[in-house]
Amino acid sequence: MGKKVAVIGAGISGLSTAYVLVNNDFEVTIIAKAFSPNITSNKAAAFWFPYHVRSDARGINWVETSYQYFKDLSADEASGISFIKIVKGIKEGIIDDDRWIAFMPENTCKEVPIEQLPKGYAQGFEAKVPLVETQLFLPYLQQVLTAKGVVFKEANVTNLQIVASSYDTVVNCTGLGASQLCNDASLFAVRGQVLLVEPGFPNAIFLDNHTPTYIVPRQDATIIGGTYEEHVNVETTEPETLQQLLVKASNVFPELQEKRIIGNWAGLRPFREAVRLEKEVNSNIIHNYGHGGSGFTLSFGCAEAVLQLISTPNTAPNP
Ligand SMILES: Cc1cc2nc3c(=O)[nH]c(=O)nc-3n(C[C@H](O)[C@H](O)[C@H](O)COP(=O)(O)OP(=O)(O)OC[C@H]3O[C@@H](n4cnc5c(N)ncnc54)[C@H](O)[C@@H]3O)c2cc1C
Repeated sequence: MGKKVAVIGAGISGLSTAYVLVNNDFEVTIIAKAFSPNITSNKAAAFWFPYHVRSDARGINWVETSYQYFKDLSADEASGISFIKIVKGIKEGIIDDDRWIAFMPENTCKEVPIEQLPKGYAQGFEAKVPLVETQLFLPYLQQVLTAKGVVFKEANVTNLQIVASSYDTVVNCTGLGASQLCNDASLFAVRGQVLLVEPGFPNAIFLDNHTPTYIVPRQDATIIGGTYEEHVNVETTEPETLQQLLVKASNVFPELQEKRIIGNWAGLRPFREAVRLEKEVNSNIIHNYGHGGSGFTLSFGCAEAVLQLISTPNTAPNP
């Protein structure tokens, strides 16, 4: 395939794909109908964690590759990426799906002594993971891409084949937009609502997948999440749900109750049983969408996989 590539979508999937391609001497144009901050990627928490990777055998490489990219990019403080402790708590009587441990980079994950866990937790693990402050990283990455010669165009793409006729390769990174663009009924929205309180929460990221509760300390806010609402396609928050989030989080960290509430948002995770990462047969179109609740965690790994698909004529099997 030639070197002229159109990446459709300017979320984390599109931007990371553009980054990997431009670094490999491709001439990249990003076409999107919306850009940061008006996209799902801005609504992510967004810490690196192998959540929703399940048993997709390709996932282990993707999460490891992304981790390495975030590590390299974090060298520039302006990127908004930091490495931060995460504590995953498991309550008494809960059988935890511990497959995520196998995805953690070597020697970064250890068990937390029970006396150091918040009240009510029977087991816990800690690790250091990348925290990507979306409000900083997405504009930063756009600037980096612009400096490298990537062109940004605003347009609503309704037909991938038409775009494909003007480029050597088209990479479809449209997230939830792919359900319409590709008529993909297996892709659906999973709404996540979060509450924002004033910054300054001193602890690490805290995660309890079962309640589900996560607390993420960013520079501009402490995120208190979250909900996981399958097939809910509206990006709105509900006051009662936000109140419940605060109650759940305050049960773990009572000091959160004293914090000033400064905002909230809802985002729609583009969920698919398996990420669609494949090249269409006899075509110059590559798909990279359906990352669910793990778009940041998978991002640069999937982008590298796109590079391989462009560079090799055979299509990778898509489970
Ligand atoms: C509350 C919440 C918390 C989350 N926390 C985490 C986390 O901690 N860690 C993590 O890894 N992930 C997390 N996620 C998941 C993550 O946000 C998503 O997986 C990720 O943002 C998906 O990125 P994307 O680039 O594929 O899609 P999007 O960000 O939705 O971007 C899609 C792009 O395609 C464009 N587009 C769509 N259709 C068209 C079209 N027809 N023509 C032109 N352009 C089009 C859009 O305008 C946009 O630019 C979270 C999500 C939510 C909602």
